[in-house]
Amino acid sequence: MGIIDSILKKVVLQEALIVEKTKLSDAAYKIRLKSEGIASADFVPGYFLRLGIGIDKEEVSMKDKIRSYSVWDINKSEGYMDLAIATHSKGMGSNWVEQCQPGEDVYFKWKKGNFLVDNSADSYLMIGDLSALSHLYMIHRALPAGKNVESIIYSHNKNELFPDISGTEPFDFYGLPTNPKEEIMDLVKARVSKMSGKKMVYIAGDSRICAQLNQYFRKELKWETKQIKTKPFWNPDKKGLE
Ligand SMILES: Cc1cc2nc3c(=O)[nH]c(=O)nc-3n(C[C@H](O)[C@H](O)[C@H](O)COP(=O)(O)OP(=O)(O)OC[C@H]3O[C@@H](n4cnc5c(N)ncnc54)[C@H](O)[C@@H]3O)c2cc1C
Repeated sequence: MGIIDSILKKVVLQEALIVEKTKLSDAAYKIRLKSEGIASADFVPGYFLRLGIGIDKEEVSMKDKIRSYSVWDINKSEGYMDLAIATHSKGMGSNWVEQCQPGEDVYFKWKKGNFLVDNSADSYLMIGDLSALSHLYMIHRALPAGKNVESIIYSHNKNELFPDISGTEPFDFYGLPTNPKEEIMDLVKARVSKMSGKKMVYIAGDSRICAQLNQYFRKELKWETKQIKTKPFWNPDKKGLE
C-alpha cells in the first residue's frame, strides 16, 4: 500500500462496510454502508461523503481516489446509511459502483457543505438530474409537512429515475436530453408560476444547468441569494468535483 493511501485510511477517513448493493435502475445503484461512527454522527440532511473509491490502487491518480456522494438516507439506531450512485459518467466512481460487492470495506469522510435543508420557505422547487435525485429526496423528506413542493427531475431516459427510499414518488420526472437548456426554462417558468409565499429553489447536478438557472433566478426573477440553493455535482470538462 502506498504511503498516501495508508494515511488516507488510517488518519483521514473512516472505515465502513458495504452491506447491501441494489440496482435501482439501468443507470443507478443503491449502496448501504455500515460504520460504527454513524450512530453518533451529528447529521444534517444535505450532508455528503467523500468516498475513497480508488484507495489501495496504486495506479489510480490522487484526483481519482475520491468521489463525493450524498447521503440519501441514514438510520442511526441501526448504524447504516444509503447512497444512490449514477453510472452515466463511466469514470472511477461509476466503475467502482458497478464492481463493488457487499462484504467489502470502503473509506469515507463526512462533508457538510451548505446545500442543506432549509425550512424557512413556504414553497420549494427542486431541480436536478439522476446524480442529484437522492440528495433532493433527502432534503424533501426533511422538510416539515405542509410545504408546497414543485419539482423537475430529469434524465435522458425517464425510466432511469428511481423512487425514494420508502418507495414513494414525490417528484415529477422528465425524459430530457443532456444539458436541456431550452426545455428546462419552459418547465421552470411553469413551476415558478405555481409557487406562493416565501419561495426557495434547490438546483443540483450538471454544472451548466446550475449556472444557467442560478443566473435566471438571480438576474431575471430577482430572487435573493438565500432563496437559491445550488450545488454543481459534475462538470463536463472535469473529473470528480470537490
Ligand atoms: C456534493 C456532491 C454530491 C454528489 N452526490 C452524488 C450522488 O449522490 N450520486 C451520484 O451519482 N453522484 C454524485 N455526485 C457526483 C459524483 O461525485 C461524481 O462526480 C460522479 O459519480 C462521477 O464520477 P466518475 O468518477 O464516475 O466520473 P468522472 O471521472 O468524475 O467523470 C467522467 C466524465 O463523466 C462526466 N460526468 C460526471 N458525472 C456525470 C453524470 N451524472 N452524467 C453525465 N456525465 C457525467 C464528467 O463530466 C466527465 O466528463 C456528487 C458530487 C458532489 C460535488
